[in-house]
Amino acid sequence: MNLVIFGPPGAGKGTQSSFIAKKFNLYQLSTGELLRNEIKNNTKLGKKISSIINSGNLVSNELVDGLIEKYISDRTYQNKIIFDGYPRNLIQAQNLNDLLNKYNQKIHFALRLTVSLDTIIKRIKERSTLEKREDDSEEIAIKRYKTYEKNIKSVIDFYKQSNLLKVINGEASIIEINSEISALIESI
Ligand code: AMP
Repeated sequence: MNLVIFGPPGAGKGTQSSFIAKKFNLYQLSTGELLRNEIKNNTKLGKKISSIINSGNLVSNELVDGLIEKYISDRTYQNKIIFDGYPRNLIQAQNLNDLLNKYNQKIHFALRLTVSLDTIIKRIKERSTLEKREDDSEEIAIKRYKTYEKNIKSVIDFYKQSNLLKVINGEASIIEINSEISALIESI
């Protein structure tokens, strides 16, 4: 099964994806993580995108679309992918569908984690220095939240129309969310 998980930055989609990946033997494909690795490894691409990411904006569709095809086309990951942080806008959602079609796959459902901006800011303040990322300041968090909100509406409609959307209350505890998502997957 392939699934999409999305929510504002700081909603816990990374934590949830990694939990589901382990439990159901799926592969967590986080575009944010792939991009951060490019920056960490100081690659040519990394140098190009670091200021965009650190300012809370999105990198170009072409760039992320290119990154994910490598995984969709690889038989190791076939029908086993959790798309974490992708798609972020309508163009990416359509591209993901096209790519999956090309490799005879599909999305089984799209999970939307809902969390308020107040909660996100509270969580960032509680994160210890060790866990902090470079794009983790309160000001950047607000910018990332706004960028997310602006772009995600059309993605929500896209999955709603295809009857694939499941909304999860991301304000609940990590364990509660874990069980809700597990129950959903087990019902498929
Ligand atoms: P994330 O870890 O998902 O919060 O992503 C961190 C940052 O990487 C985002 O703020 C964007 O700058 C960039 N990014 C991650 N995924 C995407 C995507 N699907 N499209 C464009 N930019 C992305």
